[in-house]
Amino acid sequence: MNRAITTTLHHYINGKKVPGDSGRAGDIYNPAIGQVTKQVPLASRSEVEQAIGAAQAAFPAWAATPAGRRAQVMFKFRDLIKSNMDRLAEAVSSEHGKTLEDAKGSITRGLEVVEFTCGISQMLKGEYSESVASGVDSWSTRQPLGVCAGITPFNFPAMVPMWMFPMAIACGNTFVLKPSEKDPSCPLLLAELMTEAGLPEGVLNVVNGDKEAVDTLLTDPRVQAISFVGSTAIGEYIYHTGTAHNKRVQALCGAKNHMVVMPDADIDQAVDAVMGAAYGSAGERCMAISVVVAVGDAPADALIEKLVPRVEALKVGPYTDLSSEMGPVVTPEAQQRINGYIDKGVEEGAELVRDGRGLSVPGHEGGCFVGATIFDRVKTNMSIYTDEIFGPVLSIVRAESYEEAVQMINEHEYGNGTAIFTRDGDAARDFSNRIQIGMVGINVPIPVPLAFHSFGGWKRSLFGDHSIHGPEGVRFYTKLKTVTSRWPSGIRSGAVFNFKAGGEH
Ligand code: NAD
Repeated sequence: MNRAITTTLHHYINGKKVPGDSGRAGDIYNPAIGQVTKQVPLASRSEVEQAIGAAQAAFPAWAATPAGRRAQVMFKFRDLIKSNMDRLAEAVSSEHGKTLEDAKGSITRGLEVVEFTCGISQMLKGEYSESVASGVDSWSTRQPLGVCAGITPFNFPAMVPMWMFPMAIACGNTFVLKPSEKDPSCPLLLAELMTEAGLPEGVLNVVNGDKEAVDTLLTDPRVQAISFVGSTAIGEYIYHTGTAHNKRVQALCGAKNHMVVMPDADIDQAVDAVMGAAYGSAGERCMAISVVVAVGDAPADALIEKLVPRVEALKVGPYTDLSSEMGPVVTPEAQQRINGYIDKGVEEGAELVRDGRGLSVPGHEGGCFVGATIFDRVKTNMSIYTDEIFGPVLSIVRAESYEEAVQMINEHEYGNGTAIFTRDGDAARDFSNRIQIGMVGINVPIPVPLAFHSFGGWKRSLFGDHSIHGPEGVRFYTKLKTVTSRWPSGIRSGAVFNFKAGGEH
């Protein structure tokens, strides 16, 4: 294996960088060159417990800090993200592989969540009812939970942690983040920026690690809530283990996002959409379009005719080349897995229109590149259709009717995102109403909700009751308290032994 290790990373506990002491470490690749360039410590149970302890100790004072003052930290954090954008994007691209422009775009989507949290007082202000009974008032308020934890995937090392910790912290919680061990540099930098923004020690901690760290977070009684984003197999385990330990859990998981192309669709618009949605970030997005369902042969043929030259012209290269439109996949292991799926697609009888295997980028021959791949005439029993490949591999399925397309999508195990391309308002309306998917686009290929809405899928794309960020995020990171009060000067009703109608107390 190629190794050119220049850096060993750390944890971030109680506002300080802490070296790992477990004796275990993980490799971090620069996927553009296919070499291990850094190592990350993998925390032991006791190191994670130290981070949880720091978060627990910081909680009472932080919870008692007025929401408006907590928001002041977020205002400063927002400014620091903007002024450190190049540094953050470099950290993302050098470990994930995505282009710098794409890295900046993803950081901006996280930044939008931070901006939402600047107005957290508005979300926490509660409800008030005067005179629910004679001399009795009632109000509801939302209070923080305590120590919350986040476990995040490799594909959005900035955005996904920022879906979580700014929301949790603005709501008055303290936080332990366990980022992906494949690209933890950006989350560590974000934690440092939070300290620079004025966040008290211990409110945000980052522990690097693998299953041992995650299992500690899932079982430690001091942790009240777990937010997870990652694959379905792990997410289901997180959900069941976390809830079995009486924690609130939201686990956002894998996806297979279908884009329906109706016979009346604007094909040029659809081709533009597919290019970005299937191959942006090398297909390593949970909202990537990995299946196009063409309703009829005519739109399928028209789409392929226009797609192939675009795919052939796609500039694949390292993030250091600013003209690159698509980077490598995250590790050699991911590259092998994706190539393996292309092999299987061929074996299973799909028509390989464009083969991304064996792509060599001059000057970066060792890089983890997979070229943009297109399969046509994919059937729903093929593994390239059923499984999440998480790479730049597009499957085109030909459906005979709109009904068949809807049924196919509704029967798929995943329910994260979907899109329909059509000029027919009736079809679009029917689709958005009947489709069993959490996020739906109408002539929009990647319908990611903005920060003031909430993000989440259905079926085996989300375990738990709450989507992430926005109003659902506030509900997840707070518990409801309702107070009913009477002051001594109010009207006395004497001892009451039975419930009364009309809110009499
Ligand atoms: P992953 O499930 O392998 O890892 C996610 C996290 O879980 C990491 O922090 C990892 O260290 C941890 N983990 C891995 N194995 C574990 C184990 N055995 N026990 C406990 N913890 C473990 O996911 P990934 O490969 O990093 O990310 C890609 C996946 O994430 C894809 O399936 C993608 O669809 C999904 N994803 C979903 C969303 C969404 O919002 N639904 C967003 C981004 C990514």
